[in-house]
Amino acid sequence: MAKYFGTNGVRGKFDEFTPELALTLARATGAYLKRGKIIVARDGRLTSETLRNAIVAGLMGVGCEVIDIGIAPSPVAEFLIRKHDANGAIMITASHNPPEWNGMKVVDGKGISVSRERGEEIEKLIGKTEAAPWDKVGGFCRCGDFIREYLDAVKKEVKAGKIAKRKPKLVLDCGNGTASVIAPELFRELGCEIVLMNQEIDGRFPGRPSEPTRENVKELIAKVPKEKADVGIAWDGDCDRVVLVDEKGEYVIGDRVFALCALLRLREKKGDIVTTVATSKAIEDIAKKFGVRVRYTKIGAPYLSEEMAKGGAAIGGEEVGGIILPEISLAKDGFSSIAKIVEALSEKKLSEWMREVPAYANVKERIPADEKRKGEIVGRMKKYAKENKLAIIDIDGIRINLEDGWIIVRASGTENYVRIFAEAKTESKAKEYLEKYRKIALG
Ligand code: MG
Repeated sequence: MAKYFGTNGVRGKFDEFTPELALTLARATGAYLKRGKIIVARDGRLTSETLRNAIVAGLMGVGCEVIDIGIAPSPVAEFLIRKHDANGAIMITASHNPPEWNGMKVVDGKGISVSRERGEEIEKLIGKTEAAPWDKVGGFCRCGDFIREYLDAVKKEVKAGKIAKRKPKLVLDCGNGTASVIAPELFRELGCEIVLMNQEIDGRFPGRPSEPTRENVKELIAKVPKEKADVGIAWDGDCDRVVLVDEKGEYVIGDRVFALCALLRLREKKGDIVTTVATSKAIEDIAKKFGVRVRYTKIGAPYLSEEMAKGGAAIGGEEVGGIILPEISLAKDGFSSIAKIVEALSEKKLSEWMREVPAYANVKERIPADEKRKGEIVGRMKKYAKENKLAIIDIDGIRINLEDGWIIVRASGTENYVRIFAEAKTESKAKEYLEKYRKIALG
């Protein structure tokens, strides 16, 4: 089992993910990626610059050619891999975690982020990676207008004329994160009227906590109707996650943002939908409507990009509000799909669009469990599903598909508990499912 790598890279507080550890891991990562060109991006956290220096030293010391793109959202770095024929990217970020945290996400040359399993391969190279000889040490460049390249690529995916004609008013809550580097410019260039919130990059996150939960974006929720805006948009710290607020001030959870993106996408381009086993049945309903397949993966960004890389998918995404548009990259990208939604505002209001996304209610619970008990709980559910010939998906825990919803029982990979999620048409029905299956799971 990997010691440092989790579901999506390495994360820790600054006294855990230290510059020393970052340098060690960067050397091993450089070797794993077979050296060559490596793109390095960082978020605006107070510790990101020292960690960037350590990571760059590690990479160059084993012979990598570093392209440093400075403070930038993760999706920008991921987009640039293919464009610049790089062997990979390292993003120095702790995503939506509190300010004292930091970390690194690693993506390979195909644009697939490194999972825990592949992280273990990197860790095996620690202490075994030879330094480059003095005359083969890698170079460092901070050349090119990378932000421009990304903006142009995203703009190519939307009908800019439609947006400019409608001139929607947007409130952009950048959350003091890296969204500030892209969002104001992108939507201004697309002809939108924009109102900015928390647009100063600040590693202390003074405006709001970095995770765009309903509670954390309540100022945005209040501001959108007050400004008579068409939509509010909020990103997490590194912009792979995004949520919306409609013109009436209704929060649109990530799951439903993804479902709307899928609907808009499939109108234009048919293809499978790739998503995790914890995503709303709304996705299945949309897939059915367009006659396409849903391909399920384990929970975690790397598994989504691994599945996207197999081809045949029109869109990918997950329930926390991460959407993949394969034309841009295999990674969750908080700008490209949202630009498509902004384009769709020329047809109808966001609240009207949301009525076209099938509505489901979710309930979630965590049950404390050690490793042994985790196995017992998931095992009992599997046995019950088999005996009762229920439709299951068992690639990550066990999901039982029911007539009007589903239930998933899944052991946490990092903490001592089992998660149970239930989804149904109404909240009372979802609660009923949760009660019923909790009893079965606990035996
Ligand atoms: Mg993130």
